[in-house]
Amino acid sequence: MRNVVIIGSGCAGNTAAVYAARANLSPLVVEGLETGGQLSLTTMVENFPGFPDGIMGPELVANIKKQAERFGAEYRTGEVTAAGLAERPFRITIDGSEVVETKTLIVASGASARWLGLESEQKLIGHGVSSCATCDGFFFRGRPVMVVGGGDSAMEEATFLTKFASEVTISHRRDQFRASRIMLDRARSNEKIKWLTETVVEDVYDVGKNEVTGVRLRNVKDDRRWDHKVDGLFLAIGHIPNTKVFGGQLDLDPDGYIVSKGGARTNIAGVFHAGDVQDRHYRQAVTAAGMGCMAAIEAERFLEANH
Ligand code: NAP
Repeated sequence: MRNVVIIGSGCAGNTAAVYAARANLSPLVVEGLETGGQLSLTTMVENFPGFPDGIMGPELVANIKKQAERFGAEYRTGEVTAAGLAERPFRITIDGSEVVETKTLIVASGASARWLGLESEQKLIGHGVSSCATCDGFFFRGRPVMVVGGGDSAMEEATFLTKFASEVTISHRRDQFRASRIMLDRARSNEKIKWLTETVVEDVYDVGKNEVTGVRLRNVKDDRRWDHKVDGLFLAIGHIPNTKVFGGQLDLDPDGYIVSKGGARTNIAGVFHAGDVQDRHYRQAVTAAGMGCMAAIEAERFLEANH
């Protein structure tokens, strides 16, 4: 029987593990399929407080894990394939076979960026292909970049990127935008932003050079194809929260994000949330770490009150 099981090993899960371990709760962290979370997909992180010269994303998340292990957190590779939350202790199934019982649960399973799914795109993640303008925009000072998407995130990322890039092209698969009027108008009034509608990215160059040098585009109406030179490609086509196993148990919004009941609380007493699995707005390493801390403190208080 565990005091705390933490699902997810990104910034949120690892920070929850530091706090839970330091509270002598011997937490078990189930690392999940994307070990290290989204930070493990980035390169230099320059906005995490405390690192004036920046730190590599994978190193940052590995450091937090090391810190948690120093205080007794236990890590287990594997994926949570089922969760029984109807009664306590909760029953967490790992990789379809091993069942762990726990008094409290911290869900920090994150949200995975949605990608186009192109082989070249996948190979160039962290080398010019990014899903986070806040994280990586700075590296494209004075260079042309492309943002894919037609929602609020695409408008927000494109507008943000104009601070650095020489030119930002928004490429969207339709001629109608899902983005809110105000965000769309703000982007439209920005002279640095160029628009390509009814256009999809078919390939990303140049895997051989291990950097982005351009994209091949296709107009969906007339099938015209052409190459477009960019140094960075930002995907803003949505995120998918990793909450499948909690459906019907935890309150989720229509997109699958956990609905917070205040602080780090969910609708089930003893189950807490941290990071992008609930937060669709800030999605920063530091906010995820903050929520991880909150979730661990709430779990500790819950255990004190109930046992
Ligand atoms: P979103 O609203 O779901 O928009 C995703 C966009 O990506 C859509 O334009 C969609 O095209 C496109 N897309 C999806 N899959 C694609 C694919 N495979 N290939 C090409 N394009 C694809 O997602 P979001 O922009 O991340 O926003 C998510 C939520 O957060 C929204 O509720 C949004 O309002 C909110 N948000 C708010 C703010 C803010 O207020 N500051 C900022 C960011 C996000 P289609 O339109 O053709 O489907």
